[in-house]
Amino acid sequence: MKYPLASNFSYLFPNNCTLCGENIPGVDKSLCLPCQEQLPWLKNGCRYCSYPLSDSNLSGALCGQCQQTPPPFHSSHCLFRYDYPVDQLISRLKFNHQLMIGRLLGQLMAESLSVRRACEALPEAIIPMPLHRRRLRQRGFNQAYEIAFVCANRLNIPLLDNACRRIKDTPPQLALDAKARRRNLRQAFIIEKGIAHQSIAIVDDVMTTGSSMRELSRELIKAGAERIELWCIARTTIE
Ligand SMILES: [Zn+2]
Ligand SMILES: [Zn+2]
Repeated sequence: MKYPLASNFSYLFPNNCTLCGENIPGVDKSLCLPCQEQLPWLKNGCRYCSYPLSDSNLSGALCGQCQQTPPPFHSSHCLFRYDYPVDQLISRLKFNHQLMIGRLLGQLMAESLSVRRACEALPEAIIPMPLHRRRLRQRGFNQAYEIAFVCANRLNIPLLDNACRRIKDTPPQLALDAKARRRNLRQAFIIEKGIAHQSIAIVDDVMTTGSSMRELSRELIKAGAERIELWCIARTTIE
């Protein structure tokens, strides 16, 4: 059966796969199924921080760092390894202002979490990892917000957009050792008001060292949250 209105719309708004360019009419997502299946899905990661583990590790295992020092957050959900083409998608979003990619990544995150929702409750609120206002001015948008906004909408979870601020514009963390990272991030965030929600998901695009997430989690817990989890699009393997 044909729906003339729908076909008119797909004529007006042709939908192409953002990776291979294939036309995919009638789909509310700019990624075709074959390209989606070939993405570097993270299958076995540390139970706490999603650090990629070898397949010989049992599911639920912890990485070396989390065994030594458990993080202040309780779990994480990272979709991909930070490999091709996810690294390129994220850089197109961040540096080429392709906000449609933020939408796509938010959709993919929401899809994978709605599977989980069937057996386990999701957090009560979502917070996008805040950018310092200087960086926000440079970039014009916060990529974590673009992803979190779509996720919150699709999963019907409140988005706490103004709950916290980043007050330190920290240099890239990779160049620093763990101790320096911690010092660098001390008091990097302030929580604007008491957190009324007990369980919160922090959303970000890439998790590298996880230092910012640890610091923000500590602040949220001080402000009254009880359970923090991280939702991240990609996890790097550099520690
Ligand atoms: Zn494709
Ligand atoms: Zn870990």
